[in-house]
Amino acid sequence: MTLTTHAVIGAIIGGATGNPYMAFSLGFVSHLLVDIIPHGDRELYEGHKTKTAQKRAIAFVIMDAIAALIVISLMFSYSPDHTLSFAIAMGIIGSVLPDFINGIYEAWDVKSLEWFNKFHFFFHNMVSDRSGDVPLRYGLLGQLVVILFLQRFF
Ligand SMILES: [Zn+2]
Repeated sequence: MTLTTHAVIGAIIGGATGNPYMAFSLGFVSHLLVDIIPHGDRELYEGHKTKTAQKRAIAFVIMDAIAALIVISLMFSYSPDHTLSFAIAMGIIGSVLPDFINGIYEAWDVKSLEWFNKFHFFFHNMVSDRSGDVPLRYGLLGQLVVILFLQRFF
């Protein structure tokens, strides 16, 4: 899923639990679980892996990171009863951490993180390996709908 989707889910978990440790753990687990749903980014990742469409993959990650910042900032700006508590921060951190760890693995080819990369993609590819991925535009549209829906719970 996009960082934006993970971050929004993490913020909601943090707000709901109010406990930084629980928020972090549940945020982390939530990342792996929602990644199971096919969401259209396999082609992007394969383009990056096989070096056939690296520019596109990098541009996508940059746009995703900026979109996550914008969406999270806006969430806080219109929600009067939520200040950025430590629990919410930890929920966000836990929920985006798996992709961050993968980024470290990819950027520096850190061999000791290879197991985590496999672990992450075990969840990520669990369904899409068997039934195929959805087109990216539908994956993004679906996530937009989910984000708009989840805003109600923040
Ligand atoms: Zn992921």
